[in-house]
Amino acid sequence: MSVVVVGGGVAGLAAASALAERGCAVTVLEAAPALGGRARSFAERSTGDSVDNGQHALMGCYHEFLALLARIGRRGELWESELDVPLWDAERGMQRLACPALPSPLHFAAGVLRFGHLSFRERLSALRAGRALVARFGRSRGEDGAFTVAQALLALRQSPQARRALWDPLTWATLNADPAEASAGLLAAVVGRALLGPRSGSRFLLPALPLSELYAEPARKFIEARGGTVRCRAPVDEVVVQGQRAIGVRSGGELVLASHVILAVPPPAVRRIAPPELRALVPAALERATPIVSVTLWLDRPVGGPDFLGLLDGQTQWLFRVDRIHQRTNAASAEGARIACVRSGASAWLERPTREIAAIALREAAQALEGAAHAKLRHALVLKEVAATLAPAPEIQPLRPGPEGPVRDLLLAGDWTATGLPATLESAALSGHRAAALALAMDQAAA
Ligand SMILES: Cc1cc2nc3c(=O)[nH]c(=O)nc-3n(C[C@H](O)[C@H](O)[C@H](O)COP(=O)(O)OP(=O)(O)OC[C@H]3O[C@@H](n4cnc5c(N)ncnc54)[C@H](O)[C@@H]3O)c2cc1C
Repeated sequence: MSVVVVGGGVAGLAAASALAERGCAVTVLEAAPALGGRARSFAERSTGDSVDNGQHALMGCYHEFLALLARIGRRGELWESELDVPLWDAERGMQRLACPALPSPLHFAAGVLRFGHLSFRERLSALRAGRALVARFGRSRGEDGAFTVAQALLALRQSPQARRALWDPLTWATLNADPAEASAGLLAAVVGRALLGPRSGSRFLLPALPLSELYAEPARKFIEARGGTVRCRAPVDEVVVQGQRAIGVRSGGELVLASHVILAVPPPAVRRIAPPELRALVPAALERATPIVSVTLWLDRPVGGPDFLGLLDGQTQWLFRVDRIHQRTNAASAEGARIACVRSGASAWLERPTREIAAIALREAAQALEGAAHAKLRHALVLKEVAATLAPAPEIQPLRPGPEGPVRDLLLAGDWTATGLPATLESAALSGHRAAALALAMDQAAA
């Protein structure tokens, strides 16, 4: 059995490493100069630091992504804690949504019942709403495609403050979009798995290494150590089909033959390189994506405050203390502070000059973090990822295709495929593992 995996992001590397582990001959072809796709790191020019293309956060319920890390020997390289989320505003200061070590779902109930940004009544109502969201708007209820998060929260009688302090930040963070535009079914999937499922699922995890060191390069080593091939700067131009069956791909004039092809690329690339029968399953609506803007601030001195926090009224929504979260930083970061600021669903910032964006991020960090107001900015880097994730709009969810299409031995993977999850690291890893398992099953059936 030989498999060509097109795309060296999380989905492609999850599929390829799972297949290599099972002894398959795997070739990964990646168009970019480096692996990682939308979850990668690179050497920043002025500081020499390895910087991620955007801060990534994981939860304990990311079983497939964690399985990928375990396979390649990197499960231990994560900053990890029980769910304890500090949320800041100028009026109430820092309040935490902190879930104690109780069995689920009591841990979440206890966390919400002590959450200082809400009145006691709002806390009780939020608890009821969490359960009702899953029960009434979860995808298995058949209402997916029908409601936005904002509509569901209205139906569940959530107050403006409960939305502002709890539901909206959760939606922006996990679905990367405004609650008025995001699917209630997807939020229900997040709440069901991350907050109301087993307690381990609600643990909060952050990469303690730059993303390429955390998984992309270790995955390459894992695959190559098992006889596989990983090539960058190898864009695939077309999938080659013979008699309704994929027999390989063409890349820069070279024909790479294989018994199975896994396309682990985003929708625009599928629509360019897949055979017409498969393209028909990937409508243009699946090219709708939402942006994320990330700002990294290098300050000249250490600052106080928690390792990460949410800003309830900020234009930047989350701040992460990379100098504390990463196991090692370069000398410039070690003496001062390095803060990653994130704005999700950031359409409003795409046209804004980077200098203005950096100034906003610095001002907001100075308000929320002790000592940051006196710190001097050494350097700022603004990254705009225009197509960060598939738009989570309700009407788009039913269009997401499964892994199998009309062409035999050709499988689809990617965070945007039908996983029942928002487009995340977990959705990408799940889709890759699923495609690998199907390729193995097809091979066995053919034998
Ligand atoms: C700034 C930012 C922040 C994020 N934060 C989080 C977070 O906190 N938590 C979370 O879970 N998720 C987060 N995500 C989402 C997460 O990064 C993605 O869901 C995941 O990386 C998608 O992986 P993928 O393999 O499906 O796709 P991709 O990463 O897009 O991989 C596809 C690969 O295919 C390659 N390719 C395309 N065309 C071709 C071709 N013709 N031939 C060969 N190769 C090709 C591309 O170069 C790319 O490397 C974030 C994303 C961004 C951008």
